[in-house]
Amino acid sequence: MEGDVKLLPVHCPVVWAEKRQSLCDALPYFKMHQGSLYSKQLIPKGFLIDGEFTYRDMMNTDIVITSLGGGRARTADGDMERVRECRRPALNSILKAWKEDIPIAVIVGRNYPLLPVQAPHAYNVLDWFNVTDLWVERESRNGVFIHKVRLERTNRIAKPWWQPSGSILSDLSYSADCAAVWAWCVECKQPSKTIFDGDIWTCLHKNCTRAFQFQPEMDTNKLVYSAVFINERTAFVPPHEALRPALPVLWENSCGTEIEFRCGIVCPKCFGCSRRRNWDRWVYETPGCPFVLIAPPPPYPLCRVEKENWEFNARKCLKQSRVGEHVVASRLTIGAYSAYQFLLADIKDALKVIGSVHVFRATAVTNARDEGPNSLWNEIQLASNQGFGLQRNPVRLAGHKSEVLTRHFQQNWGAPYKFVVNVLSKSFEEAPDAILKALMRLRWAGRESVRCTTQSLATDFVEFNELLSLGYMEGDRIGYHDDGEDTLGPTVATLSLGSPALMAFRIKKKHNSDQREVLRFPIYHGDMVVMHGTDIHQFYEAYPAGMRRFAMTSRNIVLDTLDEHTRLEAIRKGNLPERAHGWQYDGL
Ligand SMILES: [Zn+2]
Ligand SMILES: [Zn+2]
Repeated sequence: MEGDVKLLPVHCPVVWAEKRQSLCDALPYFKMHQGSLYSKQLIPKGFLIDGEFTYRDMMNTDIVITSLGGGRARTADGDMERVRECRRPALNSILKAWKEDIPIAVIVGRNYPLLPVQAPHAYNVLDWFNVTDLWVERESRNGVFIHKVRLERTNRIAKPWWQPSGSILSDLSYSADCAAVWAWCVECKQPSKTIFDGDIWTCLHKNCTRAFQFQPEMDTNKLVYSAVFINERTAFVPPHEALRPALPVLWENSCGTEIEFRCGIVCPKCFGCSRRRNWDRWVYETPGCPFVLIAPPPPYPLCRVEKENWEFNARKCLKQSRVGEHVVASRLTIGAYSAYQFLLADIKDALKVIGSVHVFRATAVTNARDEGPNSLWNEIQLASNQGFGLQRNPVRLAGHKSEVLTRHFQQNWGAPYKFVVNVLSKSFEEAPDAILKALMRLRWAGRESVRCTTQSLATDFVEFNELLSLGYMEGDRIGYHDDGEDTLGPTVATLSLGSPALMAFRIKKKHNSDQREVLRFPIYHGDMVVMHGTDIHQFYEAYPAGMRRFAMTSRNIVLDTLDEHTRLEAIRKGNLPERAHGWQYDGL
């Protein structure tokens, strides 16, 4: 095969993707970011074949013979050889598919050399296949067992797209008049098919001492499967599930941010898989396809957030609050808020406070005030559907087929801030009113928190010139991240709107080699949290507990650390427009 130029396929794949995350986001039958066999509740759904292959592996328009999983290593002379057997769960899953005739969607990666045609995309869905045979062979050098599986196209009525263009399908693709002969092992008394050319038979059961045993002079690497075995055909019941999932539609009472809407789609024009990058729509990811599916999430009422709070509080297993031994907790009243103050001490010097965390607990009264969290919630839900710009950005391997997008939607306002990834910032001037109102609240909370810690921490409050808005749909979260970069002032404040979440903190390595969390608490709609002290801004929000949440987080971007061009941009974008001063917040 090598050296030959492969022909183009007769038509385009039924479904395809250029990114692994797009594939997994869009297809219900392949949600596997690593590994090759995807099972859901022990039922196999999808199988990705990419890169590696071993002796006798093959692929034609109806049949795939491949080896299952297992580890590989490079031998002394540079070849790859199998050093570990297929893992038990994957094997059990394939066994189940075989015994119960469960169809599996087969996907082929661009790197797989045995596809009969040029692979048009990084990931190409072939079709549904059924398992017809499962047996063991042995690596000739080290004797490791290799599990092999023969898959047959479930429904052979449709023409396979991976047929080389211009070729004619042989009749064998539709029916067969042959079947391999079975024989019983004298040792284990189990039957095995005669699968090798030249009527060569061996026991194919791993638990038998005669498994894959031949005459000593036989070079097993030269064995080939017989045409009779390859050309066997079986009648299967076609699956109900479509290879090309339908576009999501809102159902009664759905809010449009459920997991079903957070997933990707298969473009109905080009059949490419596309992640949901934007809060209010799906846009096809690769230039060239104009398809856009507008999907603004309808308003999510606060009575449903209230219900989520009840459910969240009932999940006792989450151990929702935790105060570590180097943390001193106390309660204060700040403005109309009942607040918790946590002082985090240096592990080597318990008297030295390295940072503080203040939690401002909202109440039904503070939330319901004019321009308060309830009205901000409504305003932001509207604004986020009207050009607000919340989107997911690459967090790893941008542009690569393994590119990963954030698990939340972002838009930065004011001074530009490199948060995990570079996010283009919009100016405060063009920000919706709700963003400016949130900013004014956070400035108040930041100022008050710093005032309450001047006894322990010397730094003054520096006004925020940046606000990062994050949108979370069901199941979204943000991992531990280091906020305290050199370009940031010592204070970070966040306002939570909508569904509840857990917030947890670790202390930076230079102060504490123990990287377990030192503080954890739940946050609810309207709560504000202020972190002060550059050494503690390593926090995360975990255990998403609802359908929709916005986090508004403000920081001070230190202008002196920026280059000339960025500094001018930061000053211009971080400049507070006149109207913002009308929303000064006084803590009530
Ligand atoms: Zn046997
Ligand atoms: Zn498209």
